[in-house]
Amino acid sequence: MQGKRASNIEVKRINRNQVYWLINQRERISKPEIAAALGLSMPTVLQNVDELIERDLVKEAGTFESTGGRKAKVLTANYAARFAIGIDITQNHIGLALTDLSGDVCLHRRLQKPFTDQEHYYRELGELAMAFLKETGRPVEQFLGFGISIPGIVSLDGQTITHSHALGVAGVPCRRFYEFIPYPCVLTNDANAAMIAEMYHNPSPMTAIYFSLSNYVGGAIFTQAAQDFDHRPVFDRLFLGDHCRSGEFGHMILFPAGTPCYCGKLGCVDSYCSAKLLAGHSAGKLETFFSELESDPAHQAVWNRYLDHLAIAVNSLRMAFDSPVIIGGYVGSFMEPYLSDLQQRASLLNTFGQDASYIRLCQFKVEASALGAALRHIEAFIQTI
Ligand SMILES: [Zn+2]
Repeated sequence: MQGKRASNIEVKRINRNQVYWLINQRERISKPEIAAALGLSMPTVLQNVDELIERDLVKEAGTFESTGGRKAKVLTANYAARFAIGIDITQNHIGLALTDLSGDVCLHRRLQKPFTDQEHYYRELGELAMAFLKETGRPVEQFLGFGISIPGIVSLDGQTITHSHALGVAGVPCRRFYEFIPYPCVLTNDANAAMIAEMYHNPSPMTAIYFSLSNYVGGAIFTQAAQDFDHRPVFDRLFLGDHCRSGEFGHMILFPAGTPCYCGKLGCVDSYCSAKLLAGHSAGKLETFFSELESDPAHQAVWNRYLDHLAIAVNSLRMAFDSPVIIGGYVGSFMEPYLSDLQQRASLLNTFGQDASYIRLCQFKVEASALGAALRHIEAFIQTI
């Protein structure tokens, strides 16, 4: 009996969650449309919508044009009902991004601030976080917390940065990063965070690989079973591996005995596909490299080699995972004009045919990692609806 009651409560929770998520994902929807899309009875939909309106998570916004009968009311999600802030920490910069239940970047800032594992850095990080929270102008009682993205490996329990070559730390307690932040904080690996941003808006069952081409090359693996009808947080659907070191695509060997990698080995993907490799030809500025690319034959030669190497790595990911590969990171945000070129090169390497439409571009070109880190709070909140 108790088990049956528990499962009824669970069914109710899943229904409410599904109703909320559908309204969140559609800009405008009516109650009959919700009933049809989810296969729920009208009384169930009415009850759930009333509860969501009561909690200020859903609003009525006028009526749809009548198609004969009574005009149906337009329902929209109140995206501003909760918000969170993401902080992206890199070797030399701190990025900040505001998001809410829309899952979009509503405001962002990026400033130069070289990382150092010392108290004054963390104190300043806390001051920046507080100043940005104030700048959002949103009510603090609707604030869920800060999500911090770092270029390093975070232990499964979220308590320790086991290793970060980029920041030059190992075995550091995560709490050091939020010692001076008096709000809930959670740390996430930067590539995993970027994957969360990509997948938040994509609830359909699928698997995907995020290939992060920033100053260091990394990635993330998303996998979702077809029976995942509930909107579980994206983070829970990432494949993390035995030591949370999955997706370290930068250290797959591309050429044995090739160019030295910062990890100490030879011929890693990172040595051929990092953003630094391109930026290094334009005084460290990746934007400059791409703006000069059209008119500079030397840059074109570098880019040509880069695309060849990238195509090999991307094709290997396709062979290993048989999944879409999302090109992200710093280079990913400049890739749009060159996507079909990369697809052509990769298709020539593909054992199973010419189709290279599995190679996709990241949707978020600005502060993707900060956004995804913040979305962990947003998704945890949606779970409670
Ligand atoms: Zn390496």
